[in-house]
Amino acid sequence: MADTMKQMIEQAEQDLLHTYNRYPIVFDHGSGVYLYDVNGKKYLDFCAGIAVFALGYANQEYNDALKAQVDKILHTSNYFYNEPAIRAAHLLKQASGMDRVFFTNSGAEAVEGALKAAVKYAYEKDGRTDHEVIAMEHSFHGRTYGALSVTGNPHYREAFGTMPCGARFAKFNDFASVEALADDKTCAVILEPVQGEGGLQPATESFLRDVRNFCDERGILLIFDEVQCGMGRCGSMFRWQKYGIKPDIMTSAKALGCGVPVGAFLLTEEVAQHSLVPGDHGTTYGGNPLACAAVCKVLELYGKDHIIDHVNEIAPYLEERLDRLASRYACILERRGCGLMQGLVFDRPVAPVINAAMDRGLVLINAGSNILRFVPPLIITKENVDEMISILEPVIAALL
Ligand SMILES: *Cc1c(COP(=O)(O)O)cnc(C)c1O
Repeated sequence: MADTMKQMIEQAEQDLLHTYNRYPIVFDHGSGVYLYDVNGKKYLDFCAGIAVFALGYANQEYNDALKAQVDKILHTSNYFYNEPAIRAAHLLKQASGMDRVFFTNSGAEAVEGALKAAVKYAYEKDGRTDHEVIAMEHSFHGRTYGALSVTGNPHYREAFGTMPCGARFAKFNDFASVEALADDKTCAVILEPVQGEGGLQPATESFLRDVRNFCDERGILLIFDEVQCGMGRCGSMFRWQKYGIKPDIMTSAKALGCGVPVGAFLLTEEVAQHSLVPGDHGTTYGGNPLACAAVCKVLELYGKDHIIDHVNEIAPYLEERLDRLASRYACILERRGCGLMQGLVFDRPVAPVINAAMDRGLVLINAGSNILRFVPPLIITKENVDEMISILEPVIAALL
């Protein structure tokens, strides 16, 4: 007899390392913007696997492309070329306007590669090995050591000792604080054009422009981490494209594979020509045929289904509905974010709101303890937004 959901969860808690306080749900399958747990209960999903499932669940064309690739070949290693990687790199170059692509298995690994490229670039120029990176307070770049070293949440770094990259943390959207930290060791500035985990905070255009100009003047590289805010979520394929403020290195992951673990870091030709060379960096799985078949199909479907136009059409409606909600409840201090990457800042922890919403069939997540995060599949409709509000509003009303 099949295990009940409760039994499955008990088993998981005996076997998995306890690094998450998970919600007590075992999801079984999804369709469009809905998820179903193993009991068949239906949930409207405004989490999308943390900004991953841009195209929704069970997209037939995407699934067919992956199945076809499974039947062909899954993996070859980077000692050889493979066709999906060749196509994916070319499509990603076109979508980003960057010049060179390195595929990884995750966002954190993309950040690792970006940092290594920046440090190597600086080393090639001056031969020093004491370069430092300026990162932002409240940033999030991933959990591996390099990515963690530039993550502006001291609590995440506290127990883990000396960090690489000599990171120092400036105030987000405060150019003077970036300027003040820079010295002759500084080789790069890394930032998220819209901070995700740190609170759905968009960088201002003037901040990005000032940092870009400053980096140009000082010969410092600018790295944009587009892992969460990129891939159309904020109304342009990558957020920086909205302002035309181009980084020297950028990262992507999350929605890049729409469910298959894949990330990438991309470089300008200038950085590519003067940084990582054979022997400096590598990966066994990164850029494998399955992951790259997913990237190809995702980028193809973004074009064919006009995903970014859709985001620009639906996002103002989501903003309007969230603004209205915020205006009705004093406990909601602010709406923040851009595109389909939104947050409601509460004056108290949002965990009870999230739990009650789940009970009523709505999946939401937090960003920090007091912010409710909305990162739905990019294919949501106005009706989905209305449905979300119709579940969320009574939850907020009842809890207060
Ligand atoms: C999620 C995230 C990462 C880390 O990605 P993983 O795939 O979890 O390693 C890095 N940067 C940003 C901005 C993210 O949101």
